[in-house]
Amino acid sequence: MKIIVLTAAIIASLARVPDAAAQAKLNVITTTEDLASIAREVGGDRITVDSLAKGYQDPHFVEAKPSFILKLQKADVLIVVGRELEVGWLPPLIQQSRNAKIQSGADGYLDASTQARILDIPQGQITRAMGDVHPSGNPHYWLDPENGKVVARTIAAKLAQSRPNDKAYFDQRLADFIARVAEGEKRWLAALAPYRGVKVVTYHRSYPNFADRFGLDVVGYVEPRPGIPPSPGHTLDLIQEMKRQQIKVILIEPYFDQKTPNSIATQTGASVVVLPPSVGGEKTITDYIKLFDYDINLLVTALKAAGAKPGGTD
Ligand SMILES: [Zn+2]
Repeated sequence: MKIIVLTAAIIASLARVPDAAAQAKLNVITTTEDLASIAREVGGDRITVDSLAKGYQDPHFVEAKPSFILKLQKADVLIVVGRELEVGWLPPLIQQSRNAKIQSGADGYLDASTQARILDIPQGQITRAMGDVHPSGNPHYWLDPENGKVVARTIAAKLAQSRPNDKAYFDQRLADFIARVAEGEKRWLAALAPYRGVKVVTYHRSYPNFADRFGLDVVGYVEPRPGIPPSPGHTLDLIQEMKRQQIKVILIEPYFDQKTPNSIATQTGASVVVLPPSVGGEKTITDYIKLFDYDINLLVTALKAAGAKPGGTD
């Protein structure tokens, strides 16, 4: 009799499994691997996640593939970086997917930037002469871990809206992720503390949030204006300025040509550091926390080797 009761209990418990699984996993598509990583942290095994762009690609200019449309057709939720980062390639794909759920403004469309701290919001009128300026501010905001926490909260709220029964699960994973980011932040800030205020040059304006959080002073760019390739005149000015301010490090994104940065480095004695701005920018950068572990370690090693000094010694 006992055995029969037990068996019945097992059958009952087994019977609940297909019930729970009857609700298919929420299919989340993100534009970048950073957002995919954060969504995975929050969504756990209740969602599937895939990113359109790879972390080693320039997120402003992603070559659209037919597979992107297929992915978008099946998406329940689409998460975008926003702030016009994807404006050059994503809108036609969303349209061609004919998926009503993920059209801009629909329930399945999430702009991850809405609650984030956004820098470089231009004042006054924007003209073409200013280059590829983003009117709604700098879209590279995910490179501040504080914004990573905010994005995770934004994503958790959206997932809970789509799957109210899983809200507690998402909330618990969110809290765990936020705690691990906070731990990481202590580690990263401590590693860079000896170099606080150090002056650097970057290729594109990809790192303002990163610089702001970790105490770097970005004094110039290899690009004369955002999105505009290097020009000889600007490069000469930059070399003069770097010599004057004794800049030791040039940070560059993996997807830009290193020719100009290398020539600037040769003439100034600075070193070029390829600093991946995204998850997937390097094989070992498999998640959002590893992105900072990798970048901070690389940066500290480079600053140490270059004999860089903290700020305030101009
Ligand atoms: Zn940009």
